[in-house]
Amino acid sequence: METPLLDELEKGPWSSFVSEIKKAAKKSKKAEGLLGQLELSYKEKKTHWKHGGIVGVKGYGGGVIGRFSDVGEQFPGAAQFHTIRVNQPSGWFYTSDALRKLCDIWDKYGSGLTNMHGSTGDTVFLGASTDDLEDIFCELSAASWDLGGSGGDARTPSCCVGPARCEFACYDTLALTYDITMTYQDELHRPLFPYKWKFKMAGCPNDCVASIARSDFSVIGTWRGEIQINQDAVAEYAEKGLDIKFEVVRRCPSKAIKWDGVKLTINNSECVKCMHCINVMPKALRQGEDKGAAILVGSKAPIVQGALLSSVIIPFMKIEPPYDELKALIRKIWDFWDENGVARERIGELIQRVGLGNFLETIGIEPSAQMVIQPRDNPYIFYEEYYESE
Ligand code: SF4
Ligand code: SF4
Repeated sequence: METPLLDELEKGPWSSFVSEIKKAAKKSKKAEGLLGQLELSYKEKKTHWKHGGIVGVKGYGGGVIGRFSDVGEQFPGAAQFHTIRVNQPSGWFYTSDALRKLCDIWDKYGSGLTNMHGSTGDTVFLGASTDDLEDIFCELSAASWDLGGSGGDARTPSCCVGPARCEFACYDTLALTYDITMTYQDELHRPLFPYKWKFKMAGCPNDCVASIARSDFSVIGTWRGEIQINQDAVAEYAEKGLDIKFEVVRRCPSKAIKWDGVKLTINNSECVKCMHCINVMPKALRQGEDKGAAILVGSKAPIVQGALLSSVIIPFMKIEPPYDELKALIRKIWDFWDENGVARERIGELIQRVGLGNFLETIGIEPSAQMVIQPRDNPYIFYEEYYESE
């Protein structure tokens, strides 16, 4: 097949998705059809995927996203090219056997093309036909895999590698992600929400899963109490040439650190737990011993409305099995969203519409200083309590 326009995308020093599709096309009619359709799209400067189309497997409302071609007669391999989301293991840890099994299933039924991983975190299979969906699902289930979320449901929960590989983890992100996945199977597979709901678990404020920008419910590890300082290790960093004043003190966002050339001190009441100093001097500084997580809600990418970052609603919560406090909070927020959300409204948009104050009051959370970015500068807004005391 001649693909002069796509061939341009193979030039240059980077790996190319076109090369990968070409490789797959040697074995798969589906990948070959995709290649042809894509070349046509580049030529005509328009997509040939039809909008919409609902497909799925029995008993599940999510996990498969329909893709139909409007040039299926010309490229029969791409006529049905559905996406299957497979629930990834917590922290994306696979054995090579498990990966091989997944690839075998996919080579048997699909295009062989995968996306490791989709932006929510799933293992993504690209290019299934409607008639094969049940068989793929059965083989995945027999190998202990399950589908992920799609549509108005709880999307596949995802987390950073946490304590499996990272010394900064303030709680076990993998255990919580697994527990949440198992607890909310109904919500994950049967779309019943106004729109999507994403859980992301980050072990510390470095937030390697970008939960603060990409999840409706972010659980970000943090600590209470003083950052632990090993002064000998601080001195060693200085001796080895680290400019502590420039690299650490000046870059602390709340100016909480002092260094007199001999001793490092931290005013912990000013620390905003950004992790910068600990990242720069991990051998000398450790998070406080009382560890848990901050709970934030409401971030999303710009789809119906603009992008949002998550807001803190619980500054600190212990994160330990069976996670009852966390689950009670999730249930209260879902009830509020069920009652008040309109179609395709994310929880962050709903909170913006009704106001954070009303949201907190309804779910029974007291406002706290950690929810405020900066002191208010608008004199025309008053506390309700002020009026009540008059
Ligand atoms: Fe480690 Fe924190 Fe990143 Fe998780 S978010 S991998 S705990 S640095
Ligand atoms: Fe400053 Fe961040 Fe270190 Fe806290 S964690 S002391 S805010 S650099």
